[in-house]
Amino acid sequence: MKTLKGRLVLWYALLFTVMAMGVFFYIYTILVHDMGRRVDEELIDDALEIVDIFAESGLQATAREIHLEVDEEDHGRVFYRIFSPQQVVLAATNLESWQHLAIRPEKIPEQGEMNFASLIVPGHEFKVRSIYRHMQGGYLLQIGFEPVENGRLLQLFYESFGVAFAVLVLSGSFLGFLISRRALKGIDRLRESFERVGQENFNQPVAVGREGLEIETLIKAYNQMQQRIQTLIEELHNVTNNIAHDLRSPITRIRGMAETTLTSPQSVPAYQEMTGNVVEECDNLVGMISTMLEIAEADAGVIEIKPVRLDISAMIQDVSELFAPVAEDKKIDLLLELPAEPLLLYGDKTRLQRALANLLDNALKYTPREGKVTLSGIREDSQLHVSVEDTGIGISAKEQKYIFDRFYRVDLSRSTHGNGLGLSLVKSIVFLHHGSIKVISVEGKGSCFHLYLPIASVDSSEWQ
Ligand code: ADP
Repeated sequence: MKTLKGRLVLWYALLFTVMAMGVFFYIYTILVHDMGRRVDEELIDDALEIVDIFAESGLQATAREIHLEVDEEDHGRVFYRIFSPQQVVLAATNLESWQHLAIRPEKIPEQGEMNFASLIVPGHEFKVRSIYRHMQGGYLLQIGFEPVENGRLLQLFYESFGVAFAVLVLSGSFLGFLISRRALKGIDRLRESFERVGQENFNQPVAVGREGLEIETLIKAYNQMQQRIQTLIEELHNVTNNIAHDLRSPITRIRGMAETTLTSPQSVPAYQEMTGNVVEECDNLVGMISTMLEIAEADAGVIEIKPVRLDISAMIQDVSELFAPVAEDKKIDLLLELPAEPLLLYGDKTRLQRALANLLDNALKYTPREGKVTLSGIREDSQLHVSVEDTGIGISAKEQKYIFDRFYRVDLSRSTHGNGLGLSLVKSIVFLHHGSIKVISVEGKGSCFHLYLPIASVDSSEWQ
């Protein structure tokens, strides 16, 4: 009985038993009560009739009458007795079958009253119902009746109930078994799927059947969870591969530089140059690792954001000033489209600066000389809309799906410096501020990155 199925079967059997018992007792009580009432009514009628005859015609006539009342074949079922005031039997019907009756009345009623008794008389199968009734002059009448038909009927009722009871309990258990089997089919399939997962066959979703909404929802939730874990595993796999690849290149370069310097004629300037390059590569490596950690932390939700009141407009201006020399170098027009009033927002200053810088860095990086980059900001209802638009190489529709993934770099951009983490970090920072990011881009024409940041983007209790 450890299984749910077993318990359900047991519960159904129990339910059917209790219900069958309840119905039985209800019908039985009504039946017994009604039969008893009819017998008693008949006894009262008969007794009153005799009492009247006794009052009118005396003992002799009543003795004859009671003989007439009982047919020959009824002697075994009915008897009449008349007692004297001294409780001695004066007259009676044929008592052949009633030899074991008590000689004296068991229960004498009050004067003018009557009472009933149910007697067990040896030689008689059923209980005998008897009435005592006072008659004129202190005489006492007793009529006894063995309700054989009623007894047989009740016996039949018992027997048929026994059969019905067995059928009900069996069919209840069977029904419980069928219902539980059907209801738990989905769970069984889930269990099988869990077992498959245990045996490393992970990406097989459980088929949704028709076992009821609850089970279907459970299976759907499980499939979603499985899908999510699968995606995470794949992501982890990709990230691990990418990390291995992206760390190997700079380390190989560092080693190569060191080796070349060691094997070539050694001079102080050559060592200095090599050391400088190694430091630069190490800085890049450290930068990459910190960015990776930051993205991982942001995605895992363990970053503690420090929200302050910010003017995004001023921030955009600062970033554009920072990158102005790069733009100038490439003869790129760096334009600002900002409203006169400040664009206020509660957010993490350093992180938002980094996000803007990454986007602007990309725009300048992927825009050929003499292009144009436009930074704009505007308030739209309860959010700020910031965009970074360029007239650069653009991104194909296919690639647009992946550029926010960690380490993803479009092939075309392999020649430019970068590690494919920039947009991933921007996305994490935007999500950290409960905002969203999208890109609209046409290959060969340019791209526009749109950021939407809710003004009170972080919990107001955290505001400083
Ligand atoms: P990267 O370090 O390579 O710039 P990012 O994560 O910042 O990495 O960007 C991912 C890829 O998206 C880039 O390799 C580049 O191919 C593409 N990309 C990003 N910004 C732009 C842009 N403004 N114009 C064209 N391509 C872009």
